[in-house]
Amino acid sequence: QAKKHGKDRYEVFEPDMQRAFQASIELEADLRRAVVRHEFELRYQPIVNLTSGEITGVEALIRWAHPTRGEVAPMDFIPLAEETGMIVPIGEWVLREACSRVAAWNARRSGQPITVSVNLSAVQLEQPALPLIVQSALTSSGLPADRLILELTESLLVDHRPATLTRLTEIKALGVRLAIDDFGTGYSSLAYLRRFPVDIIKIDKSFVDDVVDEPTAAALTHGIIQLGRALQLSTIAEGIEHEGQLDSLADGNCELGQGYYFAEPLTRAALDELLFPADPA
Ligand code: C2E
Ligand code: MG
Ligand code: MG
Ligand code: MG
Repeated sequence: QAKKHGKDRYEVFEPDMQRAFQASIELEADLRRAVVRHEFELRYQPIVNLTSGEITGVEALIRWAHPTRGEVAPMDFIPLAEETGMIVPIGEWVLREACSRVAAWNARRSGQPITVSVNLSAVQLEQPALPLIVQSALTSSGLPADRLILELTESLLVDHRPATLTRLTEIKALGVRLAIDDFGTGYSSLAYLRRFPVDIIKIDKSFVDDVVDEPTAAALTHGIIQLGRALQLSTIAEGIEHEGQLDSLADGNCELGQGYYFAEPLTRAALDELLFPADPA
């Protein structure tokens, strides 16, 4: 049995690697089929005014309704979609679907129309056609540009190419707003605020998680909110799960928030019910 360590290790690892490789090939083939067969769905998570409790918008979050695996979460296929470039058609579908859906909701709603936040991948920003696609999604849905928010992650801004800034400036010129997602988790968050034409900061869930129990997290969170105010940016706190977190954020004058405390990402039908309680669609 002593010999098992040396040469035999290959026999242990090889089938594993083989299996992992096989699985990734299968996933890629599945994903290609999913694009053609439209196996994606959107969930909509309410974004709430922390003072009034009103829903001011929703974040569109993709799900893959896989025919045999069931619902696949974005973190299990977005990286592959990015590597293979499939995120480009998938992302365009997300944008068009989200804009159409929210334009339709706003047409039925009285009062202030809600916003829709759509996550963008770095790969999409490498496409010179992206501003045109955004423009087209707005025009064909009828959604006013100021009701669309595009969310960018800090990693996207870290590794940005020179063209990224040009692209973002073109998109901003349409009247669309830009948010930095997961703010505070990157290496030099503050630098992006100078360099990129951002309108909204989304405070990462990791700060919100500890805002009640950890004085440092609370101080940082409240500091980010004040920074946002000084720069005339809106702040959205992510991942609010408890009333205590809400209280701390509201005390710090955080404008907006989202999280399971208010609602999980909801199906279209569930959001219909939430928005039009007396008038089921
Ligand atoms: P994100 O943009 O930061 O989205 C927030 C994530 O936190 C979502 O996970 C949401 O379901 C989850 N979340 C919201 N509130 C709570 C809470 O109170 N507690 C906890 N534990 N989680 C909460 P989800 O839907 O799995 O999405 C994960 C990430 O995948 C997103 O992070 C985003 O970066 C990416 N993603 C989702 N949809 C798209 C898309 O259409 N395109 C691209 N490029 N990326 C997407
Ligand atoms: Mg997001
Ligand atoms: Mg986020
Ligand atoms: Mg996040």
